[in-house]
Amino acid sequence: MPEPSDPQPSSIKHIAILGSTGSIGTQALEVIAAHPGEFAVEVLTANGNADLLIQQSLKFHPNAVVITEKSKYQQVKDALLPHDIKVYAGEEALAQVVAMDTLDTVLAAIVGYAGLASTLAAIEAGKQVALANKETLVVAGELVTSLARQKAVNIYPVDSEHSAIFQCLAGEWDNKIEKIYLTASGGPFRGKDKNFINNVTKEQALKHPNWEMGAKITIDSATLMNKGLEVIEARWLFNLKPEQIDVIVHPQSIIHSIVQFVDGSMKAQMGLPDMKLPIQYALGFPKRLPSSFPRFDFLKYPSLTFEKADMENFPCLPLAFEAMKRGGNAPCILNAANEIAVSAFLSDKISFIGIPGLIEKVLAKASFMAKPTYTDYVNSDKESREIAKEYV
Ligand code: NDP
Repeated sequence: MPEPSDPQPSSIKHIAILGSTGSIGTQALEVIAAHPGEFAVEVLTANGNADLLIQQSLKFHPNAVVITEKSKYQQVKDALLPHDIKVYAGEEALAQVVAMDTLDTVLAAIVGYAGLASTLAAIEAGKQVALANKETLVVAGELVTSLARQKAVNIYPVDSEHSAIFQCLAGEWDNKIEKIYLTASGGPFRGKDKNFINNVTKEQALKHPNWEMGAKITIDSATLMNKGLEVIEARWLFNLKPEQIDVIVHPQSIIHSIVQFVDGSMKAQMGLPDMKLPIQYALGFPKRLPSSFPRFDFLKYPSLTFEKADMENFPCLPLAFEAMKRGGNAPCILNAANEIAVSAFLSDKISFIGIPGLIEKVLAKASFMAKPTYTDYVNSDKESREIAKEYV
């Protein structure tokens, strides 16, 4: 027992937010600001948004920041050095800051494949990981989860569906899952016909009915690729077989996902759609911290409805299921092709329906590897991007 005079170990969690200037990063900072006794910000990182990174740093006083775009280094350094905040630049610096001794938890909230190396470095350094960057598990799920087991690192899901599954599993650790249902809003084009989908504009695709998110995930939600990426993410997070994962469209986004156990009993987690809740659960675990988020009112939602996902008009979802079943580097190819396709769509170079078309071509052409190593994933990502660019 500690003596009364012994200093108590601090229960404050020291957090690094990789991608602090994004949608998840800024909401994580709101969660942290609301719980000053629970969290301290140690590291913030951005790609090119130097102004917001500086503003966040002056408010949260991290120990260190990283700006990936080296051309922005001087601006950030000039602004922060007088405040005794260390400033680093470049991708390599990301992998270094996550190993800082003072850190407890790394929130991986960089978008896309760019988040893989730093997430792996955080796990390698034995830091707990709150994972928003689903592409990390899509690209290299087997490698990431086996490294996490080896290093005794917990990966706390931030994605609302996976947070829902995780919350349903609390207290059920030894009980077997029969199946999980990931709920999907269906995106802005749910129920639309082929003719409508063929003529979708960027502006229409960027308007999500229930969630405000970064541009890439918003387009992924419109094509249903986001759900496909989540299916693969769930497979690795919860150690499931592909046939144990199903998708059900639930347009109100109140039930965030469902676990069905071997006795047929189902548990669901529900609440109003607000990403701050799963972010807070991941950062605060195992505590449930109080929040002032708006509460769900049953009478405002007299019916919660469910539909089959439209696999015909949204071919990205079946493409993701196929890539998961194929295994190896197929999800890595799928992810790289999707990143190029989404970026081409956002620059008006391909149509909305051109996104799955491009991914299908890359999946058919890129080299398949059944048991890829980390270097194989890096090469496969590169090759798939090069092939994808040929079709843009
Ligand atoms: P945003 O586009 O809003 O933010 C991305 C963040 O990553 C920004 O801080 C950005 O910096 C940084 N970044 C972008 N590219 C690079 C790079 N090459 N190297 C280093 N940093 C980079 O994305 P979101 O916050 O929407 O999404 C982040 C992740 O969380 C994604 O994987 C997404 O799928 C997942 N997610 C998001 C949800 C949401 O509600 N937004 C919900 C569930 C999951 P800068 O601002 O300087 O460009």
